[in-house]
Amino acid sequence: AKQAGKGTYILYGQNMQQHFDERVIIEKHLREAIDNNELSLQYQPKVTLRTGELWGFEALIRWNSPVLGFVSPLSFIGIAEDCRLIIPIGEWVLRKACLFLAGLHRQGLGPYHISVNISVIQLLLDDFTDTVLRILRETELNPRYLELEITESIIMESFEEISIKLEYLKQRGIGIALDDFGTGYSSLSYLKQLPITTLKIDKSFIDGLPGEGSSMPLAGSIVAIGHDMGLNVTAEGVETEEQLDFLRRVNCDKVQGYFISRPIAEGQVLAWTRQYARQ
Ligand code: C2E
Ligand code: CA
Ligand code: CA
Ligand code: CA
Repeated sequence: AKQAGKGTYILYGQNMQQHFDERVIIEKHLREAIDNNELSLQYQPKVTLRTGELWGFEALIRWNSPVLGFVSPLSFIGIAEDCRLIIPIGEWVLRKACLFLAGLHRQGLGPYHISVNISVIQLLLDDFTDTVLRILRETELNPRYLELEITESIIMESFEEISIKLEYLKQRGIGIALDDFGTGYSSLSYLKQLPITTLKIDKSFIDGLPGEGSSMPLAGSIVAIGHDMGLNVTAEGVETEEQLDFLRRVNCDKVQGYFISRPIAEGQVLAWTRQYARQ
């Protein structure tokens, strides 16, 4: 047991060191990523379930580092938050996504919506609302076509401050989606006080659909609760036709996932959109 304990300790120690080294390396290369044009966005279609119409896209960041190769946002967003690089990166994402959508609209497509993931670090900046409104002005995008995706854990931290900012943006027509809903720890009464327009059901509740037996899967109850509160409900991570059928039966508003499309590179979006409109 002693041997095992010692072994475990050493292994753990090495992992900690490796983990730390990796963070330092990622941070070092991330610092130059914007200026070196290593970041890009992909766009994942979101579809209105009732009509099958293309509602818009979620912008998802991609990093192709000449040294590290492709690095998943799951690996670098947290680090970017810790070293506050998420501030310039997040602003870059927002501008790029709005420019992209405004460009589609200028070509006579849509109008579509764009959903952009926002970090708590951005939300807590004093000039966050100004930045969002300025980028909308600069890119000449109507606020009604922008939706911000925020996560539950985010808001718990500074409920008052964040609620005021989100309310302000919501008043100007911007959509506010609560991302990864169901994975956090918010109570329903607290949910009621949040100035949001959309609930986004986390993929983990979609994976098991439609499920067995007679009990209503949680995803169905989440849709009902969202509608009771006057919110739109979006399901993420929809991978099968069965999941789509279930979500249609429970009146989920929007769906997103590999069954409809994987995230698409900017250069392919136009072709995808035309092809989707034809089918
Ligand atoms: P998220 O916001 O929950 O985004 C959904 C993730 O699930 C994306 O992973 C997407 O590619 C993936 N996905 C979509 N449909 C399916 C499906 O049907 N099956 C499966 N297995 N996966 C699906 P991705 O692009 O790797 O992003 C991971 C996370 O990184 C995002 O989770 C989000 O939290 C964060 N992220 C991505 N882009 C940004 C960004 O620009 N800013 C910030 N702050 N966070 C971002
Ligand atoms: Ca999201
Ligand atoms: Ca999500
Ligand atoms: Ca998720």
